[in-house]
Amino acid sequence: MSNTPDPARALEILRRVFGYPAFRNAQQDIVGHVSEGGDALVLMPTGGGKSLCYQIPALLRNQAGLGIGVVISPLIALMQDQVAALDEVGVRAAYLNSSLSSAEAVAVERRVRSGDLDLLYIAPERLMTERCLQLLEDSRVGLFAIDEAHCVSQWGHDFRPEYIQLSILHERYPQVPRIALTATADMQTRAEIIERLQLQHARVFISSFDRPNIRYRIVEKQNARAQLEHFIETEHSQECGIVYCLSRKKVDETAVFLNSRGIQALPYHAGMDQKARQQNQARFLREDGLVMVATIAFGMGIDKPDVRFVAHLDLPKSIEGYYQETGRAGRDGLPSDAWMTYGLQDVVQQRRMIDESEADEQFKRMSSSRLDAMLGLCETAECRRVRLLTYFGEASEPCGNCDTCLTPPHTFDGTVEVQKLLSCIYRTGQRFGAMHVIDVLRGISNEKSRQWRHDELSTFGIGADRSDQEWRSMIRQCIALSLIAIDHEAFGALKLTAESRAVLKGEQNIHLRQSIKAAKLPKASRAQGRASLNPVEGLDAAGTRLYERLRNWRLETARSHNLPAYVIFHDGTLREIAKRRPGSVDELLDVPGVGAKKLEAYGQAIVALCDAEPA
Ligand code: ADP
Ligand code: ZN
Repeated sequence: MSNTPDPARALEILRRVFGYPAFRNAQQDIVGHVSEGGDALVLMPTGGGKSLCYQIPALLRNQAGLGIGVVISPLIALMQDQVAALDEVGVRAAYLNSSLSSAEAVAVERRVRSGDLDLLYIAPERLMTERCLQLLEDSRVGLFAIDEAHCVSQWGHDFRPEYIQLSILHERYPQVPRIALTATADMQTRAEIIERLQLQHARVFISSFDRPNIRYRIVEKQNARAQLEHFIETEHSQECGIVYCLSRKKVDETAVFLNSRGIQALPYHAGMDQKARQQNQARFLREDGLVMVATIAFGMGIDKPDVRFVAHLDLPKSIEGYYQETGRAGRDGLPSDAWMTYGLQDVVQQRRMIDESEADEQFKRMSSSRLDAMLGLCETAECRRVRLLTYFGEASEPCGNCDTCLTPPHTFDGTVEVQKLLSCIYRTGQRFGAMHVIDVLRGISNEKSRQWRHDELSTFGIGADRSDQEWRSMIRQCIALSLIAIDHEAFGALKLTAESRAVLKGEQNIHLRQSIKAAKLPKASRAQGRASLNPVEGLDAAGTRLYERLRNWRLETARSHNLPAYVIFHDGTLREIAKRRPGSVDELLDVPGVGAKKLEAYGQAIVALCDAEPA
């Protein structure tokens, strides 16, 4: 056997095994580099195609007699589906984790030792056991892939202590190439991965983090539940999506609410018992059209390709978190929505959580600046995507596919408004929350204003020409601009800051964005954007019927094999089949997503379905 894999064979494997005509983005370079034995750190957004970056090198290296590819993956519940998907395309893969009985594990170990596998998925805690390290000792390992590598970061919410021990791989097997992969892009996490996994010599591959098929929208919170219901009903009825909430209680309540409105929803959070949680996750992956209502405990590694929307009912803590969560939409490249409602209360709550946490000062400062960046994104009057990408160090042009591009918000010179607001905060003693400050500005005479004699202040009623909603929006923007601070020791009182002075003295002008009523995005422009974005839309009536029949066939096939439907074929592949209506098995092979093994397994059935549907 030769010991140098032939990189030209990579393309052949991509086509024959996986059924794709060409590599995407940096895939080809990464595959070449790793196949030849180089270490790599791969930063690619969700849906970018990271899996092939280690799967193809593993195949090439194993075929060259260099040994099996070992994949470290933190999510036991998902390994099964990953292995099933490889099995469907004819790649010899297995996993070792605590879900296996000991007899099953022994059988897998035997396959590893006898060289009967190309890829072995292992949970990190399993890898560190004596038994497993011995297994690797006894076998030939050709490649280590460390998936979800950001789990080594102690700052992130996905931190896994076992990941830190993965440096052992380099120490024990210095000659085996390692590829670490993540969709988390910020500099700090990147540096931490390199240091902790000892990847100082690895080549770093950074892809564009843009997800052009995702439309970003952030709306002002009025009645969050009703807004959510309206959003799902009008734009994603019967489609699959994820709704993120901050607290477990809110997850439960929101799921109950959606179900009561006829939208099928399941809850998921760390407070549920493990079995119920896993059951809900499995249903979400396997069934069509379910909404998962979850805390951020849910989602890492979920490779369901057809999640059509991700909604946030609460403000995420950081742009990293927001981008990771929204990134779970539209992995198949079809149009998808990232939608969020957000209000003043969210800002107050997040600030309080930071102030009241037990963490040290450095951590608080860091959390605080991450939150500031998130607020900046919410309050910007410019393209959201440009903001997001700038945050990840990428320059771009306005995208035409976010709310601010599609319906540019009006901006106005708000200097006088802000002066009124700041002086009202000052005159009331910097001791009151937003609600009371707004009441005084608008001249609302109630018990509280009479009790404190605020109805006698010069600022009483100077803002009567603006609505409660407008003032809330201005307060949020002032917080985002650091013109107002929130004092949590005084129960969320608004306070002036060092920056307020210049505005009060008339030395600085402030531009603000006009508050827009929620759900005002016109449907027409949305439909337009969709048509131009969506490469496979435009099936005629017969094509649509065929597509439906193909989907039904897929559902039955998936059920009888006990697999998620998307493991059989993706929506995009079925749509393409419905469009091309292949008359023979050979023509079917040209459809992206159809490889040799699937052709053999399903080709006849599909051609028969196409024949049966008259054009
Ligand atoms: P990631 O792990 O980066 O989120 P995946 O590896 O799951 O992404 O890939 C996302 C989707 O893109 C998958 O459905 C995969 O089959 C598909 N894909 C990956 N590479 C290609 C390619 N070169 N051509 C066509 N589709 C691809
Ligand atoms: Zn935009």
